[in-house]
Amino acid sequence: AVKRSGKNGVRLYSGHLMDQDERRQLLERELRHAQERGQLYVEFQPICTVSTGRPVCLEALVRWRHPDFGVVGPDVFISIAEDAGLITSLGEWVLCEALAAAARWQSAGFAAVRVAVNVSPLQLMQPQFAQMVERELARAGLPASALELEVTEGIDLRGRLHVERSVETVRALGVRLSLDDFGTGFASLSRLNELPVGVVKIDRVFVADLTGVVDRPRRRYVRTLISAMVTVTATLGLELVAEGVETAEQYDELVALGCTHVQGYLFSRPVPEAEVIPLLGRNVQNGVL
Ligand code: C2E
Ligand code: MG
Ligand code: MG
Ligand code: MG
Repeated sequence: AVKRSGKNGVRLYSGHLMDQDERRQLLERELRHAQERGQLYVEFQPICTVSTGRPVCLEALVRWRHPDFGVVGPDVFISIAEDAGLITSLGEWVLCEALAAAARWQSAGFAAVRVAVNVSPLQLMQPQFAQMVERELARAGLPASALELEVTEGIDLRGRLHVERSVETVRALGVRLSLDDFGTGFASLSRLNELPVGVVKIDRVFVADLTGVVDRPRRRYVRTLISAMVTVTATLGLELVAEGVETAEQYDELVALGCTHVQGYLFSRPVPEAEVIPLLGRNVQNGVL
C-alpha cells in the first residue's frame, strides 16, 4: 500500500514503514518506466525583466505523476535518475518538450521569449551532449538563441571529462549558459570571468533572507552580497536573475539593489504549458505579473 503526503513528500508503506534506502529503491524501479508510461510532464515558470515587467524566459521544470505516489518533485527524483543512469534520457526528453513548447510560443508571436532547461552535470559529461542539443534545436526549428541551459555546480566541474568541450560547443552554437543556485555551490564571484556563462541566478535562500525572520546582521550581509553580485555581473555584462521572489517587499528590495531579472511565486508558480501564452502578454505591475 502507498500513502501520499504533500507535493514532494512521498510516504510509502509495504506492511512496514520504509526506510530511506527502500524508498529510494522503490522510486528508482518505478522511475525506470516513468518516461515510457507517460508519467513525466513539464511545467514552466516565467522569468521577468524589471525594466518592462515582461516575461523574457520560461524555465522548464520537470514533474513526475505516479498513479500511486501522486506528483513527485524533481528535488526527489533527479538525484535518483542520476544515480540510476536515467538522467541522460530524461534530460533529453525534457529538452525536447521545452523546445517544442518554445516553438509554439514563437509561432504565437512571442519570438523573443526564451526557454531555460536545467541540465545535470552528468549530461555535460556525455561526449554527445552538444550534438544532441544542436540536433534538437534543428528539429524544433529554433535558433540557438531561444535556448538557455541552467547548470548547478553541486560538484566542482573543473577538469571533468568532456564538460569543458560540451560547454564550449553549446556556447559556440549560440546557446546561453546560466549558473543556477549561485552562492550555494562551487562557483564563486572570483570564477565568474573564467566561465562562459551569460546568466547568473541568485539562489532563493539569499532572497528569502532579505526579509523574513532573520537577524539584522544576516539581512545586512545578504544585502551586501546581492549588491556585490549586481556590480560584478553588470561589469562582466551578465544577466542576473533573483530566484524565489515571494513577496512584494523582496521584489522592492531586489529592485533597489539593482537586480534586473526576477522569478518566483509572486509573479507566477510553475504552470502547465497551456497557461503560458496568456502570461506572455502580461507584465509585472506593482510587483505582480
Ligand atoms: P531550480 O532550477 O533552482 O528551480 C527553481 C525551483 O524553485 C523550482 O523547484 C521552482 O518551482 C521553485 N520556486 C520557484 N519560485 C519559487 C518561490 O517563489 N518560492 C519557492 N519556495 N520556490 C520557488 P522544483 O520545480 O521543485 O525544482 C527543483 C530543482 O530540481 C530545480 O531547481 C532544478 O535544480 C531541478 N530540476 C527541475 N527540473 C529539472 C530537469 O528537467 N532536469 C534537471 N537536471 N534538474 C531539474
Ligand atoms: Mg534552474
Ligand atoms: Mg535555482
Ligand atoms: Mg535548485
